[in-house]
Amino acid sequence: MSRSPAARVTLAASAALVLVAGAPPAAPAAQDARPAVVQSRVIGHSVKDRPIRAWRVGDPDARTRAVALASLHGDEAAPRMILQQIRDGRPVEGIDLWVVPVVNPDGFLADRRHNARGVDLNRNFPREWVRTATSGRRPASEPETRALMRFLDRVDPRFVVSFHQPLYGIDTYGPKKRWFGRRLSEELNLPRKDFACGSGCHGTLTQWFNNRFDGVAVTVEYGADPSWRRMNVVAPRQLLRALGGSR
Ligand SMILES: [Zn+2]
Repeated sequence: MSRSPAARVTLAASAALVLVAGAPPAAPAAQDARPAVVQSRVIGHSVKDRPIRAWRVGDPDARTRAVALASLHGDEAAPRMILQQIRDGRPVEGIDLWVVPVVNPDGFLADRRHNARGVDLNRNFPREWVRTATSGRRPASEPETRALMRFLDRVDPRFVVSFHQPLYGIDTYGPKKRWFGRRLSEELNLPRKDFACGSGCHGTLTQWFNNRFDGVAVTVEYGADPSWRRMNVVAPRQLLRALGGSR
């Protein structure tokens, strides 16, 4: 499709105005039959022009604002269910939480790690970016990367949880992640690990966010095949508790 970048900026600006005008905090969005959802938003579009959707649950006036996202790698599909369950379940209290279950819709539908241009989105962020066969033509070259950057800039969350598979652990490398990483490890019942991305991390979402914002972003990896019950029943409750929320 041929929507121009300028048209997208205009759309994004309209979305921001809607956000400012806003619905009252406790009222569910009228177009959304999900009682937990207080707001929903298209944060951008994929290479193939598929919408990337975010849902806000909880209390917009809560002290802690957080973002939880999944399927940045399209073939790591299980943890998105945690976020869909939080979105589709009962109302959430005590936290202002945005969930983005599928950041990479083209990769997700193709069951492929990369986006439709063969780029690993978690190597495409403009922080210590390195040119490789799959890191993109330049930092933030991909529309999915830019959509997430704009969204996080606007929300400015205290916590970001980025779900992946299959390394089974929580990345606590670096002092900034230590406290929140330990908390996630205890609540989600996953071991703490130092992920080094093979030969060092370049252009990852957490590198970019942790360098740019006061908040802290942590990578959470489940195993290759977590149980349905863990994704749909146990982990949603655990994640809310780790972030200070409940339902
Ligand atoms: Zn991954």
